[in-house]
Amino acid sequence: MGKKDRSLPRTAFVTLRDLPGTRVMFWVVDECPYCGERHLHVAGNLRTADPGESLGEYPAPCDPTRVYDLELPPKPKKKQGKEARRRERREGKRQNLDE
Ligand SMILES: [Zn+2]
Repeated sequence: MGKKDRSLPRTAFVTLRDLPGTRVMFWVVDECPYCGERHLHVAGNLRTADPGESLGEYPAPCDPTRVYDLELPPKPKKKQGKEARRRERREGKRQNLDE
């Protein structure tokens, strides 16, 4: 939008993966908003409570002077019943309030 855009962290969508044979989980950035490559960030140990707490802003590994904001991707839209859709909307609102 404006000239400030450059200083704002870009959003990087992540998926949660675990490393086979370990208890370590990673956030996988499938497509870095800066370089388009894949990056990994340690999300924590499987035993620790909530990997979601480790989401947020991180320096991009390809360029530590730039920061991106790790976020879960929006849920894909599926055809589903009215009830499920209504419930999902309600949950979405609650999540927004929590933040
Ligand atoms: Zn990158």
